[in-house]
Amino acid sequence: MMKLNQQRLIDTFLELVQIDSESFHEKKIHGFLVSRLKELGCRVYVDKAGSAYNTDAPGNIIAFLPGTAKSKPVVLCSHMDTVVPGKGVKPVVKKDCITSDGTTILGADDKAGLAIILEVLRTLKEQTQVPYPPVEAVFTLTEETGMQGAKNLDYKKIKGREGLILDNEEVTELLVQGPAVNTIEVWIKGLASHAGVCPEKGISALEVAAYALSQMKLGRVDKETVANFGVVQGGKVTNVVMDEVYLKGEARSLSDAKLAKQTAHMKACFEKAVKHFTKKIDGKVHKPQVKFVPFKRYPAVNVPRNNEMVKDILSAAKKLGVRVRAAASGGGCDANVLSGFGFTLPNLGVGCRNCHTLKEKLILKEFFQAFEITLAAVLAYRK
Ligand SMILES: [Zn+2]
Repeated sequence: MMKLNQQRLIDTFLELVQIDSESFHEKKIHGFLVSRLKELGCRVYVDKAGSAYNTDAPGNIIAFLPGTAKSKPVVLCSHMDTVVPGKGVKPVVKKDCITSDGTTILGADDKAGLAIILEVLRTLKEQTQVPYPPVEAVFTLTEETGMQGAKNLDYKKIKGREGLILDNEEVTELLVQGPAVNTIEVWIKGLASHAGVCPEKGISALEVAAYALSQMKLGRVDKETVANFGVVQGGKVTNVVMDEVYLKGEARSLSDAKLAKQTAHMKACFEKAVKHFTKKIDGKVHKPQVKFVPFKRYPAVNVPRNNEMVKDILSAAKKLGVRVRAAASGGGCDANVLSGFGFTLPNLGVGCRNCHTLKEKLILKEFFQAFEITLAAVLAYRK
């Protein structure tokens, strides 16, 4: 049977967290991972994502480990970058967890994921008794600042379409749903006029905005959909009818279709407001101008609960005595972007806590469990 080499998994993790890799400065860890993957017998391909935006690394890593069983490859994905402050991490190994020395983050997000994947590849290679499918390790750049790596991933170079992302905190939580998000910017132009002398000759951009918002479904729209305006900018003095206002907001939904519907509804409310505030001034028709610009940040994740990979993960966990539950996330990660490219990748926790803070820690027991679950799910995969 394949046994987990705990010390080796910890050593790989400690090695990784001591390589600086804040977003956009990922060259070093990139080089380290490419050579480690080659040592493990993988065919390594590096895409050109690095030239699409401002990072010092060449691209995302796609590594192929040939299998000994006939199957499509199973995809394992983690990201290479960390948030700040992530330079000069000095890991402190305690009895049941690993932390930083308190002056930096630890970087378990997502180096715990990278370490697990490297160790899974190594464990598969070392044994000859149990047949395993081909594995494709996908290590992305620059996830933390908006998934720039994944967005520029040369995903056609990846043969598999199913697998697992390791980029979540608690091992007991498997994320199978995540919202699609649209950022929405609105510029409204009214008509300036002296507010003391002739307010009727003006059109208040702020009132246009207020009217539109009063007609709009915001906050909790339905079980799967939320919307919010969080930024308002406009106006300079009290005696001028405000002629320009800028709003910035967002809408999120677990359903791409519902997100499109909500975004269209928001736009329609501004159009209604334009009609409402169009008026004749000195015999001439004045119409407020609205520029409504939605920007798709990332698509939704929707892995069916009866997906084979999900079932394999849950049953592997059960055998280990770990109660893993399928859950929905409120935020976005590489899983969202990859889902837009047609990948089915539930996101398993690696055992870290307090990610993105100086108190970040990796709980060893959960880290080992995440490894065991990942290995078992890979071994069970056949397509
Ligand atoms: Zn992460």
